[in-house]
Amino acid sequence: MKKGLLIVISGPSGAGKGSICKELTKMLNLDISISETTRQPREGEVDGKNYFFVTKEAFMDKVQKDGFLEYAEVYGNFYGTPKDYVMSKIEEGKDIVLEIDFQGALQVKERYPEGVFIFILPPSLEELKNRIVHRGSETEKSLEERFGSALKEISYIDKYDYCVINDEVEKAANKVKVIIEAEHYRVTKEIYNLIQKYKEEMKCSTLQ
Ligand code: 5GP
Repeated sequence: MKKGLLIVISGPSGAGKGSICKELTKMLNLDISISETTRQPREGEVDGKNYFFVTKEAFMDKVQKDGFLEYAEVYGNFYGTPKDYVMSKIEEGKDIVLEIDFQGALQVKERYPEGVFIFILPPSLEELKNRIVHRGSETEKSLEERFGSALKEISYIDKYDYCVINDEVEKAANKVKVIIEAEHYRVTKEIYNLIQKYKEEMKCSTLQ
C-alpha cells in the first residue's frame, strides 16, 4: 500500500498556519496531528481537539520513552508530536499535517527526510503585527515574544521545500493543496518497486 505523506507546516505566529490547516481539512482527506503541550489552555480551547494539555512531568516522561517524533520548547512551554499516532497514519496511507515550529521541523527532517516541508509567510510585517495583536488571546509579554521571534523563525526558511504567502486564507490553502497533490506524484521507493516488478514480468513475456 502507498504510504501517506507527512506534511510539515511552519511559519511565524500570526502567519495563519492554523486557519490554513482548517481549510485544508475541508479540501482534502487528511489528518491534522494533535500535539501535546505543557501550555495552559486558552479560552475556548478543548483538550484532545486543539492540543492534549499535559503536565511537564507527563511530557518529560514521554520524552524519556522516545514517544515524540519531535518536541521543542516554544515561548517557555513544551510542545511535541506523538510519534506512534503519526507514523501509524502514514503507514495506513493517510496524509498527516504537523503544524509545528522550525525547531520541530528540523528534527522531523532528520528522522523523516521524505516529509514535505512548507513554510507560511504573512503578506507583510505590518499584517503579521495586526494578526498577532487582534488574536486577543495573549498577554502583552507573550505578544512581544511572538512578534520578536518572527524574524528568527523566518531565517530557517531555506530548510523548507515550499513557501506560501498567506494573503487570503482560502487562496493560500488552495496553494498548499496543489503542493500536496503534486507531492503524491513524486518518484518514490514505491515507484522503483513497481518498475522492478515490470522488469521481472517483461523477462518472461513477449508481445505474442
Ligand atoms: P500556540 O501556543 O500559539 O498554540 O503555538 C505556539 C507555537 O508552537 C506555534 O508556532 C506552533 O506551530 C508551535 N507548535 C505547536 N505544536 C507543536 C509541536 O508539536 N511541536 C513543535 N515543535 N511546535 C509546535
